[in-house]
Amino acid sequence: MHITALAGGVGGARFIRGLRHHLDTTPGLEDTTVTVIANTGDDITLFGLRVCPDVDTLLYTLGGGVHDGQGWGRADESHRLQGELAAYGVEPQWFALGDLDLGTHIARSQWLGQGASLSQVTARLAERWGLPAQRLELLPMTDTPVETHVVVDEVEDGSGRDDEVVGERAIHFQEWWVRHQAAVPAKRFVVAGLDRAAAAPGVLDAIRRADVVLLPPSNPVVSIGIILGVPGVRDALRGTAAPVVGVSPLISGRPVRGHADACLEAIGVEATAAAVGGLYEDFLDGWLVDPADAATTLRRARVEAHDGPLLMTDVEATAGIAAHALRIASSVPA
Ligand code: GDP
Ligand code: CA
Repeated sequence: MHITALAGGVGGARFIRGLRHHLDTTPGLEDTTVTVIANTGDDITLFGLRVCPDVDTLLYTLGGGVHDGQGWGRADESHRLQGELAAYGVEPQWFALGDLDLGTHIARSQWLGQGASLSQVTARLAERWGLPAQRLELLPMTDTPVETHVVVDEVEDGSGRDDEVVGERAIHFQEWWVRHQAAVPAKRFVVAGLDRAAAAPGVLDAIRRADVVLLPPSNPVVSIGIILGVPGVRDALRGTAAPVVGVSPLISGRPVRGHADACLEAIGVEATAAAVGGLYEDFLDGWLVDPADAATTLRRARVEAHDGPLLMTDVEATAGIAAHALRIASSVPA
């Protein structure tokens, strides 16, 4: 069996880790291969280094090197280099880059600079983290540099009285998410480069040739939504013979972590599991929601909804969620 999944960072990575655990501990499923298609809209160039936050979260989580409490970054990390940059007053200082993590960005930037594609670079990084040995293939959604930007109001910074809106400006997604903690209202998202991006080698085939396609509980707007914007991806999902099953990132109508609610508001979609499922209804065959959201979803969703506990508290619990998603997939009529 071959499973293909689309993924952002923490939510996606934890789900895939649970999925792999389920496959590895279920007789007959050990040989299942998994292709993960990662969002690269979060990517940013800092200090001359190309940083791919979602790809790195997937590498570290699936490779056993993640800071588990945090959900991203390396375990046993130090920040000596960042302290040095701060001493020089080098900007920006709002994006945390640990010393071990910087090793990844330096390696990636070096290989990109030598002419390797992001896919090739990602494959080399994945090798180091032991992904192929776990029958995991990690593909960036595209090799074309793309960057999610957030359009916000430009405010005349007055004397503390009513600050006047004088226009709008676009800031990098990371500046909005990390520096502003999504507290500045987003008017819309613009993904620079996405319209002329091509799906990375293997991405469309992985969707077309899969036996099951899964949407982990990743951010529906700035993770899954960005991947769906890569030319050809949405059509491949509509056209694949494989059942497509999604897992809700909202529990009780709220994101478990992060600011998916602020992202949904920006695109005018209600923060409910039902409305999120509705974003995928043109290709979704099954939608797994938490029991806390079952009533609303079953009443309103236009795809078949199922419910089961969706809190990814540990690997075993997450494996159970993945197993449920696979049961739903196998119940979809061919
Ligand atoms: P990011 O790129 O690091 O923000 O990660 P993703 O886009 O892959 O996933 C973010 C989403 O994961 C958020 O919207 C969270 O609500 C969701 N999430 C995090 N933990 C859980 C969990 O335990 N259960 C569910 N259902 N969703 C979760
Ligand atoms: Ca992300």
